[in-house]
Amino acid sequence: MGDKLLIAGNWKMHKTPQQTREYFEQFLPQVEGVNGVEILICPPFIDIPAAVEMTKDTPVKIGGQNCYYEKEGAFTGEISPVMLKAAGCEYVILGHSERRHIFGESDELINKKVISALEEGLRVILCVGETLQERESGLTFTVVESQLKLGLSGVEDKLSQIEIAYEPVWAIGTGVAAKPEDAQEVHKFIYSVLENLNPEGAKKVRVLYGGSVKPANAEAILSQPHIKGVLVGGASLKPDSFAEIVKIGQRLTA
Ligand code: PEP
Repeated sequence: MGDKLLIAGNWKMHKTPQQTREYFEQFLPQVEGVNGVEILICPPFIDIPAAVEMTKDTPVKIGGQNCYYEKEGAFTGEISPVMLKAAGCEYVILGHSERRHIFGESDELINKKVISALEEGLRVILCVGETLQERESGLTFTVVESQLKLGLSGVEDKLSQIEIAYEPVWAIGTGVAAKPEDAQEVHKFIYSVLENLNPEGAKKVRVLYGGSVKPANAEAILSQPHIKGVLVGGASLKPDSFAEIVKIGQRLTA
């Protein structure tokens, strides 16, 4: 998708359609003219039509936070990649740690979703990351490598449609981000795993960092050589703080 940093917001289960409209009324003027970074917001499904409508004719892109792997059928409560695409989404986040740990999603299930979303022409942000216990047991690289290989199984030739988000589970929603140099070390490792899967394709992947990114730490994180964007949860909910992070990315690009 090019060399631009990707600044992505994950709203999780926050905001109604009305609140979505109010958000963009405040956010869009603040990022007007920003063209050095790619901006993405992933709202809850119910807010996607309002988000797409509000960001029409702007560079801001909209994505889903999850999807199922079937196109349609008797899958109560699920949504398909076809539906996300038809609603105006360009991206979908898959394998978020909350999906893995709260809803019990396995690497095998996530891989089916990745395959299906790519088939529908969505760009995929595949999330990987270790828990605190895994980190303390020295398993960070093992866990991340396994999540990457299983999640990308069968789509190694489609890396140009994929971004990876490295999101250490212990840093998500805790206010404690990984130290930029620690994140950098894992990002470099992720690129080495991707290069083994597909040397040419790996160059096209942006590996984003996620986990308590906020305006105060975004510059240090985005300045690391192997960090090509951020996936922001809590700080993306406020238009001012998310716009601030976007502008930091823009400044670093200029
Ligand atoms: C996320 O939801 O992907 C995330 C990183 O959340 P937070 O920024 O709140 O830690």
